[in-house]
Amino acid sequence: MGGCQSFIGSGDEASHTLTAENHGDINTLKLKNNNVQKAPCLQEKVYLQDHFLRERISDVDLFTLTALPHGLDQNEWLAFNAISFFKNINLISSALSEFCTSTSCPTAKGPGNRVYEWMDEHGKKLKCSAPLYTDYAMSYIQDLLTDENVFPTRAGVTFPNGFMFLVQKVFLLLFRTLSHLYSAHYRDAVAVDIHPHLNTLLTHFITFSHTFRLLEASETAPLDDIINALTH
Ligand SMILES: [Zn+2]
Repeated sequence: MGGCQSFIGSGDEASHTLTAENHGDINTLKLKNNNVQKAPCLQEKVYLQDHFLRERISDVDLFTLTALPHGLDQNEWLAFNAISFFKNINLISSALSEFCTSTSCPTAKGPGNRVYEWMDEHGKKLKCSAPLYTDYAMSYIQDLLTDENVFPTRAGVTFPNGFMFLVQKVFLLLFRTLSHLYSAHYRDAVAVDIHPHLNTLLTHFITFSHTFRLLEASETAPLDDIINALTH
């Protein structure tokens, strides 16, 4: 069984991080309200700019959408949503995969220089590129979700002991996928106009994760700024 580790790296920020020197690239995309120079703190994280934060695909109440439906077993609800989030995050990740290569992203990172390492089945840590980490993560999740012993689909079959732990691991890996997309590929998401989907997906994902306590605060810390902006 594979695993995952993270730490704060000491090297340069991910190669796609916005800097004062490459604002020109952003301006050519679709900015209508160029106030970048007036807000220095936003220069580093394009996804915190107000006009991007407002872009969502739905105004539905995500707390209502997330709440456990009356009469439904909680494990069933967790399984259903784990599968749904996996499909949606995998879809967006795949849509941006042409921008995420071993050259553009030689290290799997999130914001704040958070480095993600994969742990192989022998417990050995592997420092790998972002696309390779994503491949490992998605394959691992796919194997779990299709394992009848972990995510049973037959009526009357109960969920295994430790199910919650495995669900938390699925959400951890999905969060890291989103974390890398925000850190390194938000400009790419803007370029192909899927950033409203990304914002909505992150908001729903975080609302669900908070409701069922699926992610540690220390894990989500690198995205706290945008999480707070999207959920408040
Ligand atoms: Zn990447």
